[in-house]
Amino acid sequence: MNRVTAKIFNIQTMSTEDGPGIRTTVFMKGCPLACLWCQNPEGLSMKIHLVHHRLRCIGCGTCRENCPRGALIFTEQGIVFSSDCRTCLTCAKACPANAIRVIGEEITVDDLLARLLQDLPFYRNSGGGVTFSGGECLLQQQFLLDILPRLKEKDVHVCLDTCGYISPEIFREVVPLAQLVLYDLKLFDDEKHRLYTGVSNKLILENACWLGRSGIPVWIRVPIIPGYTDDEENIEALALFIKKNLPAAQRIDLLGYNDICAGDYEKLRMDYPLKDTPRVKESTMMNLRRIMEQSGVKEITVSNFEKGV
Ligand code: SF4
Ligand code: SF4
Repeated sequence: MNRVTAKIFNIQTMSTEDGPGIRTTVFMKGCPLACLWCQNPEGLSMKIHLVHHRLRCIGCGTCRENCPRGALIFTEQGIVFSSDCRTCLTCAKACPANAIRVIGEEITVDDLLARLLQDLPFYRNSGGGVTFSGGECLLQQQFLLDILPRLKEKDVHVCLDTCGYISPEIFREVVPLAQLVLYDLKLFDDEKHRLYTGVSNKLILENACWLGRSGIPVWIRVPIIPGYTDDEENIEALALFIKKNLPAAQRIDLLGYNDICAGDYEKLRMDYPLKDTPRVKESTMMNLRRIMEQSGVKEITVSNFEKGV
């Protein structure tokens, strides 16, 4: 039995947006970047979170009575979990109203494998498989090193969705175990990359160059965020980088900004810095697609934009 564990925050079945066919996507916790437009704030931290739902709460106090560490603080805005909390989850289990939600779980290779293989018929019939996303899935590399060969034994197609900000040693050890890489490129200018994501893009570009030489199938994903990544200069620089270093990329997805994650920020009581950002206009998206054609990649898709403007 394999006892290696991963921290994950969601397993999404029937996904059609994370690689070919019907897929089950595993969202792993922890990310080395902090993009202003992050769509998965639950994945930023490696920690398992507790969230209090005020509307469900009946104010009975059972959670506080059961906490061995006295870590629940009742406020007018709802319950806050203090730094004394050890996420033992006793309060969540004791709550009669199901008003404390746990975001994240720790799972073994064997348990996750069993869950993923339940969808085997869907993978087979659709040309799909499993995608590891996040957060940044490569941060939990030992787990991937253990589970990917087990999925291969079952002939399951695996995609890794990565931001590429990971040591080249880890990148080169894990990535060849996948059949497809979804690789995020955001900003070519290093100064802007640092400003909007919190880290330099040097490592990301270095790993991208290796990926291009490796012959491993790759789809590139570029988030189009108005005011941050959507200027012609950025898309042209990325197109030329792809042309030079990733010429065999199978496709490029230009993913327009949307704010459907705003509710997740609210739940986690985190500020969402981009909450008033408008959607990408159709005319802008079509222009950026035309510029991206300079990469030479045949298939360029666009999604999430405001039609007719
Ligand atoms: S998870 Fe455990 S330690 Fe944390 S508040 Fe609940 S009962 Fe207390
Ligand atoms: S046990 Fe549940 S319903 Fe009762 S006060 Fe705590 S969170 Fe609210």
